[in-house]
Formats: sequence, structure tokens, C-alpha cells
Amino acid sequence: MSETIFDKILRKEIPAEIVYEDESAISFKDISPQAPVHVLVIPKVKVAGFADFESRSNEEVGALFKAAAITARKLGLADDGYRIVVNQGRNGQQTVDYIHIHILGGRPMNWPPG
Ligand code: 5GP
Repeated sequence: MSETIFDKILRKEIPAEIVYEDESAISFKDISPQAPVHVLVIPKVKVAGFADFESRSNEEVGALFKAAAITARKLGLADDGYRIVVNQGRNGQQTVDYIHIHILGGRPMNWPPG
């Protein structure tokens, strides 16, 4: 797997505003927010994309989603709701090859997505 900007954020080699961290994941603010709250959640054990979850353990997959739910609650989004997004591959507009859950909140979301 090629090195990404998120590998550097995980190693704290480049700054990011970390909002949650546990033994399996970290959550940090997106550098280019698309909503009043826009946070990314990544696993500490690297996975390139959502498609690669097929070969990972249920624990790994579950831990990332659990970290996202905890992050959203800690950000105060639980009552009003929020959107989680995982972009996969070229058609999904994935630009960083390190799996990340987007948490978007602080305003009503539109549907369908673009
Ligand atoms: P993707 O398009 O791969 O689903 O999302 C990648 C996200 O990473 C984008 O929302 C982009 O703004 C964010 N991003 C890219 N580079 C950096 C960075 O250096 N720091 C932070 N915090 N976010 C980044």
C-alpha cells in the first residue's frame, strides 16, 4: 500500500485536529470541511479502501464504525443526526487511499447525493 497523508497524520508527523482517539481508530477534522462539522475517522491498522474490508476481521470492521458513532456523539451530533460517507474507488471519488469514514453534520443533508 502506498504512503498517504493519513499515514503521516496517524504518526503525528503532520498536524491535524484530533477529536477522538481509541486503541483502534483516530478521528480528526477534515482540512476542507463540506459541512459545519466534517470529521474523518480512520483505523490505526491501515486499510486502503472499503472494498478491502471483505478480507478483514469483523472486529476491525466493527471497531471503525463504533469509533465513528462515538466520535459523532462526542461532537454533539447524535440528537439532530448526521451523515456518514465512505467513498470507494474512482467512481466513489475516493482521493486518499486509506479508508476513512466522513462524518458530516451541523446542517440538514441533501438526498440524493451528487
Ligand atoms: P475522499 O475524497 O478520499 O473520500 O476524502 C478525502 C478527504 O481528506 C477530503 O475530504 C479532504 O478534504 C481530506 N484531506 C485531504 N488532505 C488532508 C489533510 O492533509 N488533512 C486533513 N485533515 N484532511 C485532508
